[in-house]
Amino acid sequence: MTTIIDGNAIADQIRDDVSDCTDRLASDGVTPGLATVLMSDDGASETYVSMKQQACAEIGIEGYHHEIDADEPAEELYDRIEELNEDPAVHGILVQMPVPDHVDKRTVLESIDPMKDVDGFHPENVGRLVAGNARYKPCTPHGVQKILAATGVETEGKDAVVVGRSDIVGKPMANLLIQYGEGGNATTTICHSRTRNLAERTRSADIVIAAAGVPQMIDGSMLSDGTVVIDVGINRVDADNEKGYELVGDVDFESAAEKASAITPVPGGVGPLTIAMLMYNTVKAASLQSGVAVDLP
Ligand code: NAD
Repeated sequence: MTTIIDGNAIADQIRDDVSDCTDRLASDGVTPGLATVLMSDDGASETYVSMKQQACAEIGIEGYHHEIDADEPAEELYDRIEELNEDPAVHGILVQMPVPDHVDKRTVLESIDPMKDVDGFHPENVGRLVAGNARYKPCTPHGVQKILAATGVETEGKDAVVVGRSDIVGKPMANLLIQYGEGGNATTTICHSRTRNLAERTRSADIVIAAAGVPQMIDGSMLSDGTVVIDVGINRVDADNEKGYELVGDVDFESAAEKASAITPVPGGVGPLTIAMLMYNTVKAASLQSGVAVDLP
């Protein structure tokens, strides 16, 4: 019997809990504020940002959306970040990635006030995460941790394989899994594009977390019976439908589900958690900056 994990239901619960925290902040006159900055013409990025702003509106977070033309000089973006750093109504700042090639991504990440860095990508926040003292856990890996907990998957002592070593998913995911405490204590392997015999690694895992950005690259033949499979991938592939594309994960769902004890679908798996955890971090940011304590889940 394979459990198909309902990411929407898990995210709804977290959003409800976070919404209780916004009520608590409101009773002390604090409205959490999230600024999103988009410097891109990419349709997918526009969609992601508008989903984030919509989620803000639904749970009592004030959204401030900024758009900068993709061909403007990089300084426009750096200056905008400085303004937002100084704005007391803004507790969290999110610059939607990717930024244009002429913008230095590292400068962007390092310009954001670490207290407002709700993505958790500033070197100070990365360092805190690695040291086991996270301020803002990056949203997608944090969401995966929440999925595992809500599904009753014990990570302690388990063999976890993370496929992908990006700064936003793979590396922080592995870091969370090796921390002491709940949702951690896993023996964790990071695989990437140069890994030899990937299938051997994934077959030996109790938990596989796929974040490679390669459509359906992990199939049932690469898994053992009873594996927990978390599919972070969101890939657009051509399809014979109105849109001309469909979204698929990094896992071949049909064959993987035959082996998995639990598996996330795409869409409806990890994606909703990423947005819920952004709300979580924004409320945490407002709490830390205002000094009003909240009881986040
Ligand atoms: P990325 O391109 O930055 O990193 C991909 C990683 O996968 C790289 O480290 C690379 O070494 C590894 N990789 C690539 N091909 C591989 C292969 N054949 N075998 C093993 N490893 C391989 O991507 P990312 O930003 O980490 O995103 C990964 C995927 O997750 C993408 O599909 C992205 O759209 C998706 N994503 C989803 C969410 C969400 O909310 N669900 C959030 C972020 C990213």
